[in-house]
Amino acid sequence: MDRPETRLENVNARITAAAKLARRTDPITLIAVSKTHSAEAIRPLIAAGQRVFGENRVQEAQAKWPALREARPDIALHLVGQLQSNKADEAVSLFDCIHSLDRSSLVAALARAMDKAGRQVPCFVQVNIGAEEQKGGCAIAELPALLAEARAADLPLAGLMCVPPFGIEPAPFFALLGKLADDNGLAGLSMGMSDDFETAITLGATHVRVGSALFGARE
Ligand SMILES: *Cc1c(COP(=O)(O)O)cnc(C)c1O
Repeated sequence: MDRPETRLENVNARITAAAKLARRTDPITLIAVSKTHSAEAIRPLIAAGQRVFGENRVQEAQAKWPALREARPDIALHLVGQLQSNKADEAVSLFDCIHSLDRSSLVAALARAMDKAGRQVPCFVQVNIGAEEQKGGCAIAELPALLAEARAADLPLAGLMCVPPFGIEPAPFFALLGKLADDNGLAGLSMGMSDDFETAITLGATHVRVGSALFGARE
């Protein structure tokens, strides 16, 4: 298997090529999604210069990251998984960005947690872009109301996030998320994973969340 440094170089080269193809010059953030992977698997990527990482569970991130960050205080940690309201305090103290704001109760919980901590953590609103029953994210029809609530609560909004339905062409879903962001005056687009980040970049992704292409398959 290739070395992690080689995988990182390869993903970064593919990001650069996709951006060039789309004639984009604005920054694109690679979030290395390290969920399920050990500190030993993460360290080589940090050594190779990667500084933005993603986790999907608060507890797992709490167990792994304080030690990893001690050596490198410039690391940013993003939460890319569902968040329970009762974990809002922990999430606000641990993460630098939250990609899974998807309901009113969480707006309230995060606003309270940020007030309490005196710390502003940018949030992406997750949209259930394929209207899938089992998936997280706010319904498209409910997005304007949720954004209004978030703005009223002074939550720092980074943009919109989605995970398109599995196994079908993602481009129309990425394009739709881009349109929703435009319509609602939001700049950030968190979309694209290992199998489709180049397509997402072509359609305006500002943040791509890449796991297995960097770390290998998860068990
Ligand atoms: C796991 C995960 C990713 C990364 O997925 P890969 O297919 O391994 O790149 C991205 N986004 C979210 C929300 C995830 O849960």
